[in-house]
Amino acid sequence: MSYMIWLIISVVSALVAAFIAELRNRRMWLWALLTFLFSPLVILILLALPKVRPRKPCPDCKEMILAEANICRYCGYRFPQPQRAGSGGANTAAG
Ligand SMILES: [Zn+2]
Repeated sequence: MSYMIWLIISVVSALVAAFIAELRNRRMWLWALLTFLFSPLVILILLALPKVRPRKPCPDCKEMILAEANICRYCGYRFPQPQRAGSGGANTAAG
């Protein structure tokens, strides 16, 4: 009987872990599985870990760099700046 309660607690905490992992850009199935197999305390480990920042591959050297980066830290590739719309003034590019 008591193992049924433990099973319910494990499933619920696994769902909570999956939800938190999703919010923090981590693999939700992995954290759900860890929480289910080991302990709801795994959620505390998940909360203690720093938030994963989204990354993107550099089109030039294919290294993974921060998604918000404008310059690749490995090869110095410059990403095109997003155009500012409606700030007035027509820039006529010469050269
Ligand atoms: Zn690069």
